[in-house]
Amino acid sequence: MIEPFTFCGRKIWLLRDDLLGVFNGNKARKLEYFLNADLSGVSRIVSNGSSQSNAMYSLSVFAKMRGLKFSYVVSHLSKNLKREPVGNLKFALENGMEIFVDQNRREFARELAKKEGALFIEEGVAQKEAEAGFKTQAREIKAWAWERNFERQTSNEQNLGAKILDIFLPSGTGASAAYLAKNCEFNVFTCPCVGGSEYLKSEILALDPHSRVKILPPPKKYHFGDLKPELYEIWRQTLENSGVEFDLIYDPVGLLTLKENLADFKNEILYIHQGGILGNVSQKARYERK
Ligand SMILES: *Cc1c(COP(=O)(O)O)cnc(C)c1O
Repeated sequence: MIEPFTFCGRKIWLLRDDLLGVFNGNKARKLEYFLNADLSGVSRIVSNGSSQSNAMYSLSVFAKMRGLKFSYVVSHLSKNLKREPVGNLKFALENGMEIFVDQNRREFARELAKKEGALFIEEGVAQKEAEAGFKTQAREIKAWAWERNFERQTSNEQNLGAKILDIFLPSGTGASAAYLAKNCEFNVFTCPCVGGSEYLKSEILALDPHSRVKILPPPKKYHFGDLKPELYEIWRQTLENSGVEFDLIYDPVGLLTLKENLADFKNEILYIHQGGILGNVSQKARYERK
């Protein structure tokens, strides 16, 4: 669903992937392939990542739906979280997820998967199977855009007077931006929420060597999950002004970057709401403790 949305006084469009269903936003897109795949012969999935990951929660729902066991490896689990799990971790555990702690979490997870004959899923589901869901997403955006007479943007040359669409979404691994851009002819812009622009660029090029994704650096460099007044403020303002709740980890960085560059966007803008708000309780608690 795409709806009009007012952001910093400008009318833009919002793709509500947060409303897709039981899965959260882009993780639903990433798991589309596996939802439709023949998994007979697989009884367990194994993945790894952070203890508050949206992907972890979505995988727990997926495993439950498909009657699979789910093992997840983190490199660290705080005493607080262990004693009293909140947010994504709480819900994933309720879905039957089994958690392991190991310093070399990816290696540990791979070994575990091998031993168990399980399906190994990369951190953040950043792997080639994720592309299928973004083909669907691209198709949905294209169908919407063609109805509104947006033109294909196949070259970097500005076609004067043409109605062109600029898509914006914040990135973690960059898989969502890379696979969307690969499958649609509109401009795709993103910003890094983990590490810097150069790192994100190399991650995106590893997934698609010819990627046309344009990376905009945030106003300043943020670490993943940073607690900063300006990040909380733009999240709160957007919620107050529009009534739409965004994710508190990626979207504040995305919204600030979009705001900073707003005047440079001459075309119409489509922002993708990639879900993740289930994780907001734990991030809010971190803000409150600070
Ligand atoms: C996972 C996630 C992202 C990052 O997606 P990538 O494909 O890893 O770049 C962004 N926003 C939300 C809400 C997410 O859950």
